[in-house]
Amino acid sequence: MKNRKVVIANPHGFCAGVRHAVEIAGVALQRTAEPLYALNEIVHNREVVESFRSRGITFVRDLSEVPSGRTVLFSAHGVSPTIRAAAAERQLKVIDATCPFVTKVHKEVIRYATQGYSIVLIGHKGHDEVVGIAGEAPDHVTVVENCADARVFTPRNRQHVAVVTQTTLSAAEAGAVIEVLRQRFPGLEAPQTSDICYATTNRQEAVRLVAARVGDILVLGAANSSNTRRLVEVANAAGARGHLVSELGDIEQIELEGIEAIGLTAGASTPQTFVKRVLLRLAEKGFEEIEEVESAHENITFPLPAGLR
Ligand code: SF4
Repeated sequence: MKNRKVVIANPHGFCAGVRHAVEIAGVALQRTAEPLYALNEIVHNREVVESFRSRGITFVRDLSEVPSGRTVLFSAHGVSPTIRAAAAERQLKVIDATCPFVTKVHKEVIRYATQGYSIVLIGHKGHDEVVGIAGEAPDHVTVVENCADARVFTPRNRQHVAVVTQTTLSAAEAGAVIEVLRQRFPGLEAPQTSDICYATTNRQEAVRLVAARVGDILVLGAANSSNTRRLVEVANAAGARGHLVSELGDIEQIELEGIEAIGLTAGASTPQTFVKRVLLRLAEKGFEEIEEVESAHENITFPLPAGLR
């Protein structure tokens, strides 16, 4: 079928936090003569990780795998104080690529814990970001994934409950959980500005705009990328069918027969190189025309850490 169209959601792909982490890792590679280690995936995307692995970064899941005295990179998702202390004890040199929006949530948890609050962290158990944030005050933080969890959450003091969220949630779903908590704890404390970052919000809004135009939306990104998975959910909730595309071959599993226009977005850790490969594959299938739909214009950058400037 010819004359088919791709409707691209803008913004899509790399956010400021991911660009920041990728830039830090690249500069660190140039400036550090000795072997460089990274704790966890620098961002949740295999192509990005493999690219850095091929350039010499060794990725580890545990700090004990990093020889004492070496340099270790902390990922965009951040780490807990326990990890920082362990790094100091092993005399590791730390390069911190934590996204400043994640650091904001860490600081909120520290503030609420200092004030004696029981803190609900809405997020996905086991996700690197959630593990790092919860680790700021493990005795105060309870991770709640959904409304059902929120209904059975038992604080130490019902008058003293605060809520923070993972940065990459669906605003609608996080809002529903917060509503349950507000009903149960009318004095619920929450940060003045949402913890769900601008990049997550903008990408979700753009997907909603595209869902109003097409029935199927390709969401490019890794299965373990939280914001990518949320984009699939947002597409579905907006009435389209969201298809997670982690590898080029995934496109072949999608029924494209009879589709004249297909939507496309990409998670915040998905590189443009992958987006371009997918567009080329779609063009081969007759999706040659491109239309772009924009929810917001982004212009956020973060400076390099002092040691790398
Ligand atoms: S999605 Fe948001 S919080 Fe996560 S790295 Fe990007 S800008 Fe930072």
